[in-house]
Order: sequence, then structure tokens, then C-alpha cells
Amino acid sequence: MNADKTISSLKGVGPETNKKLQILGIENVSDLLHNYPRRYDDYSEISSIENITPGLVTLRALIKNTTGRYVGRGMHITESIAVDKTSSVRLVWFNQPYREKSILPGVEYFISGEFALRNQRLCVQNPTIERADSFNLNTARIVPIYKETKGLKSSQIRKLVKQNIPNIKILPETLPAWLIKKEKLFSRSQAILAMHFPESPELLEKAKKRIGFEEVFELTLAALMNKKDLAGEHALNILFDKDLAKNFVDHLPFKLTDSQKKTVWQVYKDMEREQPMNRLIEGDVGSGKTIVAVMAAVMAIKQGFQVAFMAPTELLARQHADTICELLKPLGMEDKLGLLLGSLKPAQKTQLHAAIGSGKIQFIVGTHALISEKVIMHSLGLIIIDEQHRFGVQQRKKLQSKAGYMPHVMSMTATPIPRSLALTLYGEMDISVIDAKPPGRLPIKTTICSPNSRPQLYEQIDKQLASGRQMFVVCPLIVQSDMLSAESVENVFSNLKSTVFKHRQIGILHGKMKAEEKENTMKLFVNGKLDILVSTTVVEVGVNVPNATVMLIENAERFGLAQIHQLRGRVGRSSHQGHCYLMMGDSSRPSRRIRALEKNSDGFALAELDLEIRGPGAIYGTMQHGALDLRVAKLTDIKMIASARNAAQEFIDSGESLLQYNHLSGRISILRSVTNLN
Ligand code: ADP
Ligand code: MG
Repeated sequence: MNADKTISSLKGVGPETNKKLQILGIENVSDLLHNYPRRYDDYSEISSIENITPGLVTLRALIKNTTGRYVGRGMHITESIAVDKTSSVRLVWFNQPYREKSILPGVEYFISGEFALRNQRLCVQNPTIERADSFNLNTARIVPIYKETKGLKSSQIRKLVKQNIPNIKILPETLPAWLIKKEKLFSRSQAILAMHFPESPELLEKAKKRIGFEEVFELTLAALMNKKDLAGEHALNILFDKDLAKNFVDHLPFKLTDSQKKTVWQVYKDMEREQPMNRLIEGDVGSGKTIVAVMAAVMAIKQGFQVAFMAPTELLARQHADTICELLKPLGMEDKLGLLLGSLKPAQKTQLHAAIGSGKIQFIVGTHALISEKVIMHSLGLIIIDEQHRFGVQQRKKLQSKAGYMPHVMSMTATPIPRSLALTLYGEMDISVIDAKPPGRLPIKTTICSPNSRPQLYEQIDKQLASGRQMFVVCPLIVQSDMLSAESVENVFSNLKSTVFKHRQIGILHGKMKAEEKENTMKLFVNGKLDILVSTTVVEVGVNVPNATVMLIENAERFGLAQIHQLRGRVGRSSHQGHCYLMMGDSSRPSRRIRALEKNSDGFALAELDLEIRGPGAIYGTMQHGALDLRVAKLTDIKMIASARNAAQEFIDSGESLLQYNHLSGRISILRSVTNLN
């Protein structure tokens, strides 16, 4: 098949249409065939005229006389009478004068449109009609609706796809034959044809299943191959030192939770092996991941290795360094700690670089500054990445390359990744879940508020502040915007300062501020010198202020569920009751999505819900996995994902060569490069 044939070589594609198709990313026939519909309108059920009811209808009828006329103010009306065995009905088109000539009397047509009342008379308005004796594209079928662009309608795309049906029919298979048979999948050509022109909802489902299966199969196969390769790499093993672990735990002011113990143990076992660890630690906000990371780190340091601990913001890196310093003191290791930030003065940086290069500093906490070419590690054995989804694959690879061999890697995230998604996206990692919080934490009370309840809300909040607690206010914007009707840090700050919270100390924090200013503000807040901190989502990650018990989120509807869940985690860090108020942008009824936050305090369940309602993008935002591109697969389809994953494992176990599958091996090499941590 000539799938690479340019789109302009098709009938009906002149320079203008060609341009529009390019806008949609369609350059050749293959692009056209893989440009799946966004949705479908079901016009497959044909009703008799006698039985039609208001709404979308499809008829099969003869057309009797068609007339056109102007009805003033330039408005043109075309009217026809459609007749079937049972009755007749009026068809009306507005401003389509060409209809009068193009509709042939005495010919049978399929007619699809809306049956509705117009000037007290029932008629079918602006229907699409096609001769009943032709291959119908736009009526009497499940009609595919494509992504459109100005001047290019779905109906034109349909025509082009139809021209290529012979090409679809000879599309080569891309999956192994045994897999198609075992999973009872549609062939590729059957599936693609049914994606565009499904004969029934059942066949459309089968088509989606085949294509979704293939997407997940490719992705997991790539991940599993990476994993297999990584297992073949040699890492320097870090031995478990029981006395050290015991000494560390004995000096903690609390007992580890069972979840923490289990996870630390898994990490210790990973590091003892000579294959590199590649483990993701998932734990809800406040579940205590930092301790787990530090416990891994001290093992590595004791054995003479360096540890790089990378966090996404300076604020967070500084807090980590403070926490870690306290934890290292009882072990006498605090002088091995260094904090590397982009904002350090050049002289400080040079000095730190030297200490890292000589191996004097062994525990290096920092931001992206760790990746800088100037940083030369002495003996990097373990990498810890906090909030791993905030970093790209390239950044992680760069940090890893500083070891000169494969270091152990531990990634941490508070974004609860639904299991189905984790297995697909992170098939190459081992996953530990810290699924319990330290005891004694009260669940955060979450309340949705409408703007007209502000006065009462502020009164309630002030009581909390009066008793010594503190509040975060989070806004979507830094400054007010003409484009978005959403609250800004500056606006909210000046409002609160000049009215209801005149008597309180208020600070602001956002990403545009200088590191030093941020640092100062944060210090004031941590030390209780500020009652209220108005900020953007920079407080989302990590920041720990146990005395803050109120979180007010402005324009809550603009945030993802997982994100709000992380934000409210900021006020659940002590034994005081935490409150999260979700202020809506207007007083209309909040969506099911937002309401879920009131009832549900399980980050995983919320992430599943966001995944279902808004798709994976909601959880990962601008995730680095551009090439992952799951267009058809539903990540909520756990059964399909499990079988695709099993199939990928089976493929690897069978020892079959990828090379015999041309298309598949091409896809796998692209996917491996975007997920690969090697
Ligand atoms: P996160 O998982 O969100 O990174 P942190 O590691 O910052 O959570 O821990 C949150 C808070 O809980 C910290 O103040 C930490 O000292 C405390 N913490 C951690 N583990 C325990 C525990 N087992 N018992 C009590 N408090 C704990
Ligand atoms: Mg953390």
C-alpha cells in the first residue's frame, strides 16, 4: 500500500485543503488513516416518518417537490416534502439555495437531522441527505466526527477516508499472529476500517480494543525491555549495616510506620544487589517518604558512596537539607552534607563543587543545579529524586551519567498514580507504596465554598488564626489577567490586607520572586511571624509547616484533584485539625469532580477519578512522555491493560526476535528512548 503517498495526491485535495489537513497533522495517507474520529454520532437507526419523535432522526424516504424562496432580510429557505410508506414530513434548509437544484424528485434518500418545532410546525431542520443507493458516509450509519479546523469539516475528511478504503483493506498486520489469535483481536485492517466506519457499536468496541491493546502492548514491551537491560547492568552493591539502621531509627522522635519499614527494607534489598535499583516510592503527602530516602542514603554514605538528592524547587531543597541535617547529627554525619542551589554565590558554588569532586561532601542535596556540567561527582552510588514527575527523562539521565557506571536510583512521588497507569508508564520500575500515614493525624476537613459565603468563612478562619494557627491561601495566578477570570496572589493579598485581615501579618510567595525573598518569607511563615501566606502552587510540593492548619484554595475548579489533594496535605501535618476550603469561582453547582474532594481523602481514589474524567493529562500535565501518545487505550480498562502487559511479558519470555516485526520494532525503539533511564 502507498501509505506514504502525500495527501495532496488524493482526489479533492487542492492547495487550500492540503494546508488545512497539514494543520491537523495529516500529511500522508497513513496519517489520514490513523487520524481516528474524536467521537461518533449514531444515525444508524432508521425510523418511519409516522414514528418520529423530536430529536436526532434518520429517515429513508422519497423526496417530493423541492422549492426555494427568499423570506426577507436575505434569508433563504428551501423546503422539501419527504414521503415514506407511513407518512410525510417537511424538510427545511436555511440559506442553502443550491439544495433546490441538487435534490432530485422521485429519488430515495437517507435523511439525518433534527426533528423539531419551527414556527409551530414540525419539520426536520437542515438535514444531511444522501442517496440511499450509494455508500452513505454521513447518514444512516454511526457517523465519525473528526477533529476539524476552520474551513475543513468532518464530512470532507470522511470522503477522503472513503477514497482510501481499498488501502485500509490491504494494511499489513503489525502484531504477532499468535497474539492476535490468543487475544481474539481484530486484524489491523479490520480495526482501522471499523474505527472510521463502524457497522455497529459492538464492532467499534472491538476496533478500539485492538488499537488500545496495541498501544499498551508497545509501551509495556518497551518498558520491560528497558528493565531487562538494566538488570544486565552492573552496579556497586551497598551492603546493609544492621547497626547503622538501628542507630538511625533509635534516634528518631517517632516510630516508623509498617509501610515505611516495608519500603525501607525493599530498598535495602535492592541496593545490596549488583544490579542497579530503579524503584519508585509512591506515598501520599505526609506519608513520610523523606525518612525512607535518608535511611537509604546513610547506608550508601557509610560505605563511602556519594548520594545525590534532587528536589524540584529551592524551597524544598533547603527544607530537605535542614531536616536531613537534624537526622544526620546523631550519627555524626552532618558534616558530609552539602546544599547545592543555582542561587548560591559563585564563590560558594566553586567551593562546594570542589568538596563534591574530592568526595569530602557525600550527601548532596540540591535542585537542577546538581545536573550542571560543573558538578563532578567523586563516587556517586545512589540518586534520590523527590517529586520525580517534576523532572524530565533527560534530566534524570544527566544526573545518572555523573556516576560513570550505573548508580542505584530511587524516585519519589506524592502524586498518587493509579495502579493501571503506573504499570503502563512505569513498567520499567519497581514500585513501593507507602500506603499508611503516621498515626495520630486527623483527616483534613474539606469544604466547598461559594463566593457569597466569604464573610462567614473569614470569620471562622479568624478564630483559628486567633488561637495561634496559620493559613495558606493558594491562587491560580500571580497577577490579575485580562484573559482569565481567576484570582491572583497580588489581588488577594491587597484585599485581605486592607479589609478582613487588617490585623494579621500577611506574606506572599510565588515563583517570580527572588530566591532570597522566597527564603525570607518562608522563614517568617515557618517561625510563626506571618499568620497568612498568599501564594501560587509553589507551596504544593514538600513544604512543611505543622502549625498551619487552614488551606484556602481560590478558584478551586481550576486545579486538578491530585493537585488539590497535595495542597491540602500541607495542613495535615500535625495533631491539630486541618481545614481545606475550596473557594469556587462562581456560585454555580460544583462539579462531581470537585465534590469528590469533600468525601474522599484517599489520594489514589481521587487520581483514579481524575484519570477517568479528564484523562492521564490531568495527572501528568505536561508530562515528558510526549511519545507515549495513548490515543485510544483507556487506562481505566484494567483488564485490557493487564492482558496487554502479560502479552508483552510473554513476548519477552518467548525469546522471539523483534526484528521480524518491522513496524513494532520501530515503535519500540522510539518508546524505549523516551522511557529509558539508561
Ligand atoms: P512526604 O511523604 O510528604 O514527603 P515527609 O517525609 O515530609 O512526607 O513527612 C511528613 C512529616 O511526617 C515530617 O514532619 C516527618 O518528620 C513526619 N513523619 C515521618 N514519618 C513519621 C512517623 N513514622 N511517625 C510520625 N511522624 C512521621
Ligand atoms: Mg516529600
